[in-house]
Amino acid sequence: MEAPRLYSTKRVQSLKPTKKIPLEEDPTKASDALPLPLHLTNAVFFTLFFSVVYFLLSRWREKIRTSTRLHVVTFSEIIAILAFFTSFIYLLGFFGIDFVQSLVFRPSPDVWIAEDEEEENEVLLAKEDARKVPCGQALDCLLPPLPPAAPIVTAQKVFDEKPVTVLTEEDEEIIKSVVAGTTPSYSLESKLGDCKRAAAIRREALQRLTGKSLSGLPLDGFDYESILGQCCEMPVGYVQIPVGIAGPLLVNGREYSVPMATTEGCLVASTNRGCKAIHLSGGATSVLLKDGMTRAPCVRFGTAKRAADLKLYLEDPDNFETLSVVFNRSSRFGRLQGIKCAIAGKNLYIRFTCSTGDAMGMNMVSKGVQNVLDFLQTDFPDMDVIGISGNYCSDKKPAAVNWIEGRGKSVVCEVIIKGDVVRKVLKTSVESLVELNMLKNLTGSAMAGALGGFNAHASNIVAAIYIATGQDPAQNVESSHCITMMEAVNEGKDLHISVTMPSIEVGTVGGGTQLASQSACLNLLGVKGASKETPGANARMLATIVAGAVLAGELSLMSAIAAGQLVKSHMKYNRSSKDVSKGSS
Ligand code: ADP
Repeated sequence: MEAPRLYSTKRVQSLKPTKKIPLEEDPTKASDALPLPLHLTNAVFFTLFFSVVYFLLSRWREKIRTSTRLHVVTFSEIIAILAFFTSFIYLLGFFGIDFVQSLVFRPSPDVWIAEDEEEENEVLLAKEDARKVPCGQALDCLLPPLPPAAPIVTAQKVFDEKPVTVLTEEDEEIIKSVVAGTTPSYSLESKLGDCKRAAAIRREALQRLTGKSLSGLPLDGFDYESILGQCCEMPVGYVQIPVGIAGPLLVNGREYSVPMATTEGCLVASTNRGCKAIHLSGGATSVLLKDGMTRAPCVRFGTAKRAADLKLYLEDPDNFETLSVVFNRSSRFGRLQGIKCAIAGKNLYIRFTCSTGDAMGMNMVSKGVQNVLDFLQTDFPDMDVIGISGNYCSDKKPAAVNWIEGRGKSVVCEVIIKGDVVRKVLKTSVESLVELNMLKNLTGSAMAGALGGFNAHASNIVAAIYIATGQDPAQNVESSHCITMMEAVNEGKDLHISVTMPSIEVGTVGGGTQLASQSACLNLLGVKGASKETPGANARMLATIVAGAVLAGELSLMSAIAAGQLVKSHMKYNRSSKDVSKGSS
């Protein structure tokens, strides 16, 4: 049977939240007290309330004047008191404590979303805003006509539910043997041949061993077979991270809805605002400058002279073809591009760079490097291989070599933001942004001795997209290397902004990219799996999208800082009133 659609085909009237409504709301409301329209019911009770207050106060004054005892009340006063309580209860019930709080603690203006008094601007901008893809609340955009209805597969609801997995008596025996240490926890998958059951048993054994509850960490609703031997060992559940959508991001003439997995309030809304500014300005241009993954083994010789001999051999263009043939043997996609060596005394660090198709490429490049090392042993038998990775690669560590030479995809992305858009969407000015960029992203980072950190928060966007699309989040370290440049152009009216990112390490095949959720996010971007036409095209496109999203993120955050909005918006989105004081069980 077809699942119910989750969205309506009606045009969105207003996406701004009005009043928080509990999910299981009682349908009886205070306004149902009289069989009248809402505004008339309110008018009746308001009038009643103020009339009786006036009446009771004048009676009270009269009693004080005539020295009558206050507790001696007439029939009309009793009726008035009853009317007072009735109307008071109605008004409290209707407006609720939220209303009172909203009067006392007025919410800070929403800095990411157009404010009411600026709706006029919004109308103006909406006329120019030609985006078609449905987007976030911040854009207030209209939904496009829906394609023919397709069944929507909803994920299993995993929170607040009794566990679906039921352990049998046989499982109980295995749990006891894991707790006793006679069955190693890591062997459960191979012993049972059922990954889900193995995870359930391991989880139960862990809870008993530690005396700590894992309730809240879901077990059901995940395909444990899909991670076996590839993504995660000894699973006991999975962490849920919400995925928000920023966009549409207009890059190189195409619109992308960018999935961002994050628990940081403001981040998606802010990036979304940046996307809007880019779209209204005609879109960004993203250019891929280089595409090559690196691996650098460390080898040692008896003398520095021998290390230098190998360096000269490897860097001699005449030997490149032979080395490429050897390197390329292990993969259809890994193609040697170059070798760069660095010597430290008797030790040689050999940085191999190769193209890797749509894979991020660490496995691929490592296999090619191993081929070459094996080959070199014939002519350099005194070469001692210290390690396939000697940190000159440099993987998952901040390193100048990546910043200068690049690693993975090197991308530059730019846009000219119209002065109008800077004012109306970003709520700041071109001059303020240019000055802030110079003092913060350039001078401030220089003062801090930054390495590739000449930006406001590239890593925020990179990490969120990496998690959503199954990239290796640890590579966020070098992938977030970014210099953000801003300049006033067109006689100072408009803003030119660019991000230059030399080490975006992404793939659309291999690793976590093949898991269901991550694969769905890649699919949304139109870069799922291997490109059939041009191997590597999907991964390269993903890198240009990452750079475009970073551009949007930089624009929005820098504008918020320039306009002094940052703290306000974080107080609004990052400070929940929920009770976080509950201790662990
Ligand atoms: P990585 O090198 O990023 O760690 P994997 O080795 O896990 O990635 O995945 C790459 C695998 O995918 C290789 O076995 C490769 O042959 C295969 N593959 C299939 N199509 C492509 C493609 N278009 N680009 C790169 N690899 C591909």
